[in-house]
Amino acid sequence: MNSQSILVPKISTLPVHEPRARAIVRWLVRKNIIKEELTTCGRTGNRMGYALADGARAVVLYPQALPFNEPINGLEIIYKRCIYTPAKGFLEEAGCPQCRKEVGEALFESLEDWMPGHTDNFTCPLCGHEDDINGFLFLQECGFSNLGFIFNNWAEAGYPSISIPKFVRVLH
Ligand SMILES: [Zn+2]
Repeated sequence: MNSQSILVPKISTLPVHEPRARAIVRWLVRKNIIKEELTTCGRTGNRMGYALADGARAVVLYPQALPFNEPINGLEIIYKRCIYTPAKGFLEEAGCPQCRKEVGEALFESLEDWMPGHTDNFTCPLCGHEDDINGFLFLQECGFSNLGFIFNNWAEAGYPSISIPKFVRVLH
């Protein structure tokens, strides 16, 4: 198994993102979906994450597919600006919500300015429409934000089927 279920806010700069993330962690711990303490159950960086806990069985479609016996089964939280795209077969396509034209090439090039935080926005080179980069249209799920929740190897279990805070969306 090697999957990631990722929740990302639809906004480049989520205000007070660390307290918000901690509130979500507290909620997940209260529901016993994740363990309270950090352990080496992640995949990236220092591999610290919140391990899968028993209550997760109640909130997924296929509890038997939860990775209880896997060393990598935890929730990792990314607190810095990051680009989330599908791992395989990503076409770098994007559409402008105003003129409806394909602007993927320019948009993905502009991430060079977005990544270091010079801007949160992208401006359509064809019609001048400017918005947070997340406001453009993407056929394949992707996200651009200073906060990300990565659930390692939970995808086969069908997570999440629970109602999650409204500012996030589900990526696989
Ligand atoms: Zn446009």
